[in-house]
Amino acid sequence: MNPKLFKQNNGYEIDGLWYPRVTSICNIIAKPGLEMWLANQPSFIAMQRKRKKITEWGILIHETIEKILLKKNPEIKPNIRPSIQAFLDWLSVNKIKPLSIEKMVFSKQNIYAGTFDILAELNNKLGILDLKTSKEIWDDHFIQTAAYFNAYNEKNKKKAKTHWILRIDQYQRCKVCGAKKRDKLGEINVKGGKRFCRHIWNSSKGECELQKVKNHKSFLDTFLAAKQLWEFSNRHLLSQIDNYPNKTKTHLTLFNI
Ligand SMILES: [Zn+2]
Repeated sequence: MNPKLFKQNNGYEIDGLWYPRVTSICNIIAKPGLEMWLANQPSFIAMQRKRKKITEWGILIHETIEKILLKKNPEIKPNIRPSIQAFLDWLSVNKIKPLSIEKMVFSKQNIYAGTFDILAELNNKLGILDLKTSKEIWDDHFIQTAAYFNAYNEKNKKKAKTHWILRIDQYQRCKVCGAKKRDKLGEINVKGGKRFCRHIWNSSKGECELQKVKNHKSFLDTFLAAKQLWEFSNRHLLSQIDNYPNKTKTHLTLFNI
């Protein structure tokens, strides 16, 4: 890959310096679930189409929820209604005051940058809230929010106290075998249940799950370790990025061994 493209795809320019992106760094972390999913796809084209739909789904949910939080009264597409209803139900029993949405933060100390979804006071506690549309909450979600949280607190006097993942999902359950079917913009995924069941699907049901980080420090340490691994893996490209603050270090790693 050429350094220019690498730079564009994997980082932000801030005050003349280049900072790698949190999500790019986190891509170095192995995801066994994802590998299994990839292995089960019928073709590369089909996999790409599915990934595109899943990404579009995520964007649609994010945009709608962020608009609701900003009291912008968004149009709610029928296909995402169960998810949004689950979110609204959640909202009715939680007190949330959004303070900023889709904001870029960066760490000068540890040299990385990223964009979090929401900074909010949730039930009177200031924190970073990231939305996920996956079927579970994974460790790497908190590795990511730990990085945002740390960057935010590095710069701001009024410190965030915690970070959360709010997972919003919807599925149909089979009345016979209990399998779960997810339909993301026409991409169908069936999980669990019995293989030879002639599924009879219930109507779509939304679900909303909030999890608070437990042991922030271990997630942050893991992020920084991932960053080191990412930096080492990309050292040939990074050493060609003139305004990368860690360039000298990377250069030394590369030539002084
Ligand atoms: Zn079934």
